Amino acid sequence: MIEIDNIHKSFGQNHVLKGISATFQPGKISLIIGGSGSGKSTLLKCMVGLHQPEQGHVRYDSAEFTSMNFEQRVPIRKEIGMLFQNSALFDSMTVEQNIMFPLDMFSDLSKAEKVDRANYCLERVNLAGRNKLLPAELSGGMKKRVGIARAISMNPKYLFCDEPNSGLDPETSILIDELIQDITAEFNCTTIVVTHDMNSVMGIGEYILYLHKGEKFWEGSNKDMLRAEVPELNNFVFASPL
Ligand code: ADP
Ligand code: MG
Repeated sequence: MIEIDNIHKSFGQNHVLKGISATFQPGKISLIIGGSGSGKSTLLKCMVGLHQPEQGHVRYDSAEFTSMNFEQRVPIRKEIGMLFQNSALFDSMTVEQNIMFPLDMFSDLSKAEKVDRANYCLERVNLAGRNKLLPAELSGGMKKRVGIARAISMNPKYLFCDEPNSGLDPETSILIDELIQDITAEFNCTTIVVTHDMNSVMGIGEYILYLHKGEKFWEGSNKDMLRAEVPELNNFVFASPL
């Protein structure tokens, strides 16, 4: 379980997150939605330690992450897999090297074990045998899948995906959602997905945190969302990802 409590984050005068609290359950996919610039990516980065919030707490299974120093955070960071908004693959590295990067950083596995692990992750995302390709040789959907393969290379307990469906055709988008569901079940992850994709919201949104201008605007399930006729939902539906 991941809990966030009263998260505040500013960039200079720009008060981006204005006291966000939420609880994200293990074995479930939680979604963070909201218009462009509402603070979704900033919130994810605060949660994984890429930004330090000025106020508030992030707890991983009760461990208070926000006040830990770099060294203390390492065991939790090893359990976090992250797919970045633009996939953020290393252009000069092959698919296999990209997937092995977290293993090189954080594991004691031998080279052969790392290759085995990369092969498993590639199979898992339906890209078996593509080890030696470079990111430039991949389609957008394939880049997302390599990003996911990298995110699961360490058997994550916590999985963060920032806009996994952006720039994909609807069919590929559904495949990515199914993959995220399968992985969440397989690893019993606490999974958090930032999305603009209304199909994802309706398909996998058991818990939805809706941000508006850095505040929690609404939370609930997709079924609640339909029943509640959440105001401004139309704005969200038509907002396009960055
Ligand atoms: P979203 O992901 O919901 O589209 P972001 O979290 O990326 O929104 O951005 C929210 C706000 O924070 C925007 O106004 C953006 O310009 C600002 N912002 C995000 N990251 C930074 C940064 N590293 N430095 C300065 N401002 C930032
Ligand atoms: Mg974003």
